[in-house]
Amino acid sequence: MNKPTVAIVGRPNVGKSTIFNRIVGERISIVEDVAGVTRDRIYSSADWLAHEFNLIDTGGIDIGDEPFLEQIRLQAEIAINEADVIIFLTNGREGVTDADEQVAKILYKTKKPVVLAVNKVDNPDMRDMIYDFYSLGFGDPYPVSGSHGLGLGDLLDAVAESFPEPGEDPIEDDVIRFSLIGRPNVGKSSLVNALLGEERVIVSDVAGTTTDAVDTSYEYEGQKYKIIDTAGMRKKGKVYENMEKYSVLRALKAIDRSDVVLIVINGEEGIREQDKRIAGYAEDAGKGVMFVVNKWDAIEKDDKTMNKFNEDIRKNFLFLDYAPIAYVSAKTKQRVTTLFDQIKVISENHSMRIQSSILNEVIEDAVARNPAPSDKGRRLRIYYVTQVAVKPPVFIVFVNEPELMHFSYERFLQNRLRESFGFEGTPIRLITRPRS
Ligand code: GDP
Ligand code: GDP
Repeated sequence: MNKPTVAIVGRPNVGKSTIFNRIVGERISIVEDVAGVTRDRIYSSADWLAHEFNLIDTGGIDIGDEPFLEQIRLQAEIAINEADVIIFLTNGREGVTDADEQVAKILYKTKKPVVLAVNKVDNPDMRDMIYDFYSLGFGDPYPVSGSHGLGLGDLLDAVAESFPEPGEDPIEDDVIRFSLIGRPNVGKSSLVNALLGEERVIVSDVAGTTTDAVDTSYEYEGQKYKIIDTAGMRKKGKVYENMEKYSVLRALKAIDRSDVVLIVINGEEGIREQDKRIAGYAEDAGKGVMFVVNKWDAIEKDDKTMNKFNEDIRKNFLFLDYAPIAYVSAKTKQRVTTLFDQIKVISENHSMRIQSSILNEVIEDAVARNPAPSDKGRRLRIYYVTQVAVKPPVFIVFVNEPELMHFSYERFLQNRLRESFGFEGTPIRLITRPRS
């Protein structure tokens, strides 16, 4: 769960986005085009040999109208804040430029490992181009070619060598980790304060493998919780904290580190496109999810208001029909404490394990009621179902011919599992396999 984060920095046009796309490959990602900007993706999971990590393309973080050097400076600072290892990318065809030196100057300030790469070295004859770059002071430059996919193996070996030792931030089993995700001003900070106001804060500690995020640990009715820090929650006042892409990036990172994600919606404003993307990412990442409609005090209500809101949420988040919805007010604290119980229930469902014997009884019963589909005379036969993972629960369904399992039948089986075991708030996955 605590994958290291790698950020690519460098002045414009050195090939950051090309290298990013090479490294993450054809990964399907709901994060694509997160804030509707032309650059496809700026955050994705990736892997190299046995290493899994998250990759950030800082060039895609839109700094707005700041002067050129200021933009480079901010992107480098974001890399320093968010990453465990930094890839400093330059362009071999242009040699060392003033802007490269500016980036280097900012990177000198961090103790985090920096791996220097020289891009656009498209064939071996061009390798001499790299010697210039020793002058930047980051040791051996790694020649790469984003367009031709050359040199990436050596670069990633060097990056992986610099990953922090695993186990520096052990994940305690008895702690429920959750985050509050939502657009600015929906009331995330106010909700955190309202939640913490109920119980003494036990410790605040430095999170994960990055130094900037500050998670908050506390205990409520004997259960330990950890609130995962997200951008803007503490109003640190850095220029880039208010940028939309940066806050989305922080939100995605926070989701990765959470068991349960609270999607906070401003009751006064309703649902926005960005809420849907973030929710999609949480579902995709297999996290527990609930909706929290905040500012309920500020809304004029009659007996239909809540139903109308429920319908709206269900209509906009079709794949999250299992996520509970809470209506709260951080201001008056109405129903805020009920969130603890709901988070706990979701977390339990998220890590629920079902005995195979009971599981198979439920599936047999489901098949008896609604026989499996057949196609050209061949009928799907389900032999055996077994749970292979938690967080979220994953089930393998062994069948005669996987092609005969249709989406609608899979959905039917999922619903039967939900009705029998109550997986409220957690996604569940079914994988169909041929019996060997
Ligand atoms: P960014 O602004 O740093 O993200 O740079 P881009 O990835 O958008 O690339 C800038 C330009 O350099 C594009 O026209 C790319 O096609 C080109 N480019 C990227 N990598 C290479 C490479 O390895 N070799 C060559 N010759 N061109 C490249
Ligand atoms: P964040 O950006 O999501 O962290 O939002 P904040 O917690 O900073 O809240 C944004 C604004 O909404 C502030 O002015 C809060 O006082 C206000 N606010 C937060 N929660 C509530 C609520 O439940 N009811 C009302 N009426 N206002 C709220």
